[in-house]
Amino acid sequence: MTEFIDLHVHSTCSDGTLTPEELVQLSAAKGLRAFALTDHDQVSGIERARREALRLGGSPQVIPGIEISSEWQNSEIHILGYDLDPAHPALQSYLDEFLKEREDRNRKMAEKITAAGCPVTVEEVTERFPEAVLGRPHYARIMVEKGFVTSVAAAFQQYLGDQGPCYVNRRRIPSRDAVQLILSCGGHPVLAHPLQYGFSKDRLESFAQLLKDSGLEGMECLYSGYSVSDSEKLMQLAKRHGLFVTGGSDFHGANKPQIELGTGINGNLAVPYSLLSDAGIC
Ligand code: AMP
Ligand code: FE
Ligand code: FE
Ligand code: ZN
Repeated sequence: MTEFIDLHVHSTCSDGTLTPEELVQLSAAKGLRAFALTDHDQVSGIERARREALRLGGSPQVIPGIEISSEWQNSEIHILGYDLDPAHPALQSYLDEFLKEREDRNRKMAEKITAAGCPVTVEEVTERFPEAVLGRPHYARIMVEKGFVTSVAAAFQQYLGDQGPCYVNRRRIPSRDAVQLILSCGGHPVLAHPLQYGFSKDRLESFAQLLKDSGLEGMECLYSGYSVSDSEKLMQLAKRHGLFVTGGSDFHGANKPQIELGTGINGNLAVPYSLLSDAGIC
């Protein structure tokens, strides 16, 4: 019998709505053999998830992960890292610096949102989402809760989107450095959701080669919403560049309610456990 996994999952430690413990319980209830916790620029949930899995008798297997927001030619690129050492000093110093920058940005964002007519402070958002690395999704939810907009999508559309009046830019690590950082922490770097960047076929091809030259090892070819033909094309691309294949849902709980853990959108996702050993991750 085929066993299934999910290698792309967010918790309350970034912008998901389930705690690491709840994710372990849900994975177990869904019969997943393993899942990777891949919070945005954050590793604080990993130990908690592991402890919960131990409490449940060692299943599901929790794979330590991260999703690093990086940048290449003005595009935001997400690099997943698997099986890395969450306590590695290089990672910790990157995350510390990143957090400091986020704090500055969050203060500026609160000022802009207040100026737009929705009074909000960083302290208030921190109190509402005590575990999270705060960012736009949290401000969006506060704006909904205050009745200023009707949905998170509307908050992004009218205020927080990249071109919106309350957007504040932030510095991101170059994609090649994100790959290197993951390698230096003993992890396996993987390009997340390659079709989300709006690249042409040729551009994606050359980008994959560039990242491979920097040490990229894998590509997320199975993803919520990708058709069978999308995934097949991505698997051919991965093969051409000597990259292993991974897959995950990008589950965020109620923040992306259409996506289900393990099975994606309308059950279109199925990631077999065998991918993990093919990738050499475990
Ligand atoms: P930040 O890192 O603070 O810039 O926020 C980026 C996060 O906002 C992404 O990881 C998404 O989860 C979320 N996001 C970006 N654009 C949208 C959108 N149009 N609608 C809903 N969520 C979005
Ligand atoms: Fe997210
Ligand atoms: Fe992502
Ligand atoms: Zn993600």
